[in-house]
Amino acid sequence: MIPTLARQYFFYQRSQRWNRSQIEFHQDERLRRLIRHAGRHVPYYRDLFREIGLDPERFRGREDMAKIPLLDKETVRTRAQELIADNASHYGVVWESTSGSTGTPLRVIVDRGARANKLAALIRSYQWAGYRLGKKIFSLQSYYLKGTCWQYHRLFRVLRFDSVRLKEETALGVIRVMQKVKPYFFMGFPFDLHILARFAEQAGLKIPTPGGMVTYGETLSSSTRRALEAAYHCGVFDYYSQHECAAMIAECESHHLHLVDDFAYHEIVDERPDPTGALMGELVSTGLYNWAMPLIRYRTRDDVILNAAKSDCPCGRSGLPIIQSILGKQCDYLETPDGRLLGAVMSHSIDNGRGVVMSQCVQDALDHIYVNLVVDVSYNGESQAALERDLRKRLGDKMVIEFRLVPQLEKRPGGKTPFILSKIGHTFA
Ligand SMILES: [Zn+2]
Repeated sequence: MIPTLARQYFFYQRSQRWNRSQIEFHQDERLRRLIRHAGRHVPYYRDLFREIGLDPERFRGREDMAKIPLLDKETVRTRAQELIADNASHYGVVWESTSGSTGTPLRVIVDRGARANKLAALIRSYQWAGYRLGKKIFSLQSYYLKGTCWQYHRLFRVLRFDSVRLKEETALGVIRVMQKVKPYFFMGFPFDLHILARFAEQAGLKIPTPGGMVTYGETLSSSTRRALEAAYHCGVFDYYSQHECAAMIAECESHHLHLVDDFAYHEIVDERPDPTGALMGELVSTGLYNWAMPLIRYRTRDDVILNAAKSDCPCGRSGLPIIQSILGKQCDYLETPDGRLLGAVMSHSIDNGRGVVMSQCVQDALDHIYVNLVVDVSYNGESQAALERDLRKRLGDKMVIEFRLVPQLEKRPGGKTPFILSKIGHTFA
C-alpha cells in the first residue's frame, strides 16, 4: 500500500490544479475501466448489464452513466456477495462496516488501491484545512482503547482520545496531556469537539490553539461551526467521506465545499427546492478505485444543497465543483447515566447486528433506551446478544436497553426518521 499511497499522494497534489475538462477526462478514463472490469468480473453487474443491454466494452464514460440504474443501500446489504468481483482477492481486501445516519448496517469490502487513494485524497483535504505533513494531530473519535481513554502514537504523531469515554473527568485529563503534547491539528466529530471545549471552559482550562480543525461524521451546523471557531480560535473545515470509498467532499481554504471529483464520480439526483427555496438533491457517487467491490451510481442517502452562484471558487480548483452544504447525518444525542453524551458515533454500534435491516435508538429516561429494530429472517437471539454487547461498550452497564421488533421506525413530526431520538430533550440543534 505504501508505494501506491506515495504515488497517489503526488497525483492528488497535481490533479487539484487541473481544469474541469482534465478532471472529466480522468473520470471518463477511470469509469471506462471500472465498467469493463465490473462487466467481466462482478456477477451483479454481469447480469445487470446483460439485462439493460449495455455493452461494457463500448462504454464511453460519464455520458453513458445514466444508462446504469441507481444502486441503493438495500441492494448492497442483501446482495453483497454478488457485488464482489470474482478476482477480488488479487486486490488485497478488507471488510468495512458502515451504518450511516439512518442506521442501516452495511458491510462492504474495500481493496488496497481504494484505501490508498482515499488516504491520499484525505491528506490533501486536511492540508486545505491547515494540516502539514509530520505535524502532531489530536484525534477525537471512537477507538475502543483498552484500559485507557487516550493514547499517543509516536510514529504517526497522533494523540488519540476515545470519544466513547468522553466525560468531564476524562476530558480534563486529556486536555492536560494536550497542553504538554501541543498537537498542531485537530480532527473529530463536531459534537464531541464541542463537548470537549465546554468541559475545558467550565474548568477554566486552556486547550492549546491548533493550526486548523477538520470535522466529519455528522452535519456541521452553522451554530456548531461558530461555537467551535470561538472555542478553539482556529478555522473549522467540514469533511465528508464514507467507508465505502465511493464519495468525498472537502472544504478548501476559502471555506467552500468541493466535490472531490478526482477521487470519485459524483452526481446529484432528485433535485428539488428545500424549505428556503434553495435547490437540494441526493448525492449519488461512484468510487473510481474500488475494484474489489465496485459501487456504481450508489445512493448515499445524504442530501446536499447545490451552489446557487455557480461561480468558481477563489481557491482556483475549478476542476472540483462546489456545493453549498451537506445535509445528511443530523441527529439527537443520548446521555448515559454516568454523564457521557453520545451523538452520531452511536450508529456504529449496530454494525454487528446480523439480520438488522434498520435500527433506531430512542431514549425516554436517563437510564433507559429502547432500540427499534426492523429485521429480516436471519435475525435471532445471537444477533441481539451481539447488538447488546456493542451498545454496552458505548452506553456502559447502568443503562437499561430494551429491544423492540417493529414494522417501521418512529418518525419525527416533520417526517424525518433519525437514528437517535431523544425524548429527554437532547435534540439536534
Ligand atoms: Zn475552493
